[in-house]
Amino acid sequence: MKKTIVILATLFMLITTVSTSSGFLPNFRNLKRLKPPSIKVDKIIWDYKNKTTKQNKCRDKCAEKWLGKCVRYKKVCNNRTKIIAAFNKNHKRVVKSAMSHIQNQMGRSAVRSCIDKHVKRYKGISKKQARDDLNALINASRWPRINLHPFNENTNTNGWAYLERKAWEKNGKLGWKNRININLNLTAIDKKINNGYGITKAGKALSGTIFHELLHQMGHSHPDTDSYKKNYESGYFVVVAGDCIMYSGAGDRNTAKGLSLAGGQLPPPGRD
Ligand SMILES: [Zn+2]
Repeated sequence: MKKTIVILATLFMLITTVSTSSGFLPNFRNLKRLKPPSIKVDKIIWDYKNKTTKQNKCRDKCAEKWLGKCVRYKKVCNNRTKIIAAFNKNHKRVVKSAMSHIQNQMGRSAVRSCIDKHVKRYKGISKKQARDDLNALINASRWPRINLHPFNENTNTNGWAYLERKAWEKNGKLGWKNRININLNLTAIDKKINNGYGITKAGKALSGTIFHELLHQMGHSHPDTDSYKKNYESGYFVVVAGDCIMYSGAGDRNTAKGLSLAGGQLPPPGRD
């Protein structure tokens, strides 16, 4: 028994030594891509789920008239309307294009430099874990299984995901359990397509959102209740990483962002 413990302890020490000496380099920009990513978008297991929601369709009906003029209205709602949100062919093409963009960009040194340069805050997950997770993603041999849930909402939100650690770095590799769940706003994708974006450009615009939501499902957080500025413009890892992916790590993230916000090439990503 004692011998077993000694052997186990030695083994444990050996394993710890090996894993720590393999080293985590100090900066994102120095993280070497160990091998070209073999992630293939066509090998992603897509789960499309049609969502049926009841939506109240309301109208104002006059409740009180005075001198032939309505002075009080009441809302009359009909809750029998069903809205079905389902990915169509174009949505699927845009999402796949976004995934391709992420795959092509995430290992690039320009993207890692961009993240390294602009990240100021970590929330929920430590700095080391954030770096390990990113490196594991870069070197992943496959994507986690991703469930994509469609919804329709006429807002600036491109997508959302719960904060859950469904995938993580494990011995330098991407470990994951169950499925990652990301909700995407089909109305927002339609807007991009209808605004004259080609599929590729719409995909690029969506890529930051998908990467952001993916990181949320890996447990990376930013405060949700604070102001937009505090959440999205003060350098939280999850926000910066999404932006740097979307802008291909181009030059200065702030410049790129400023351009897009001023009506330039790309809209700001939805980041909830
Ligand atoms: Zn978010």
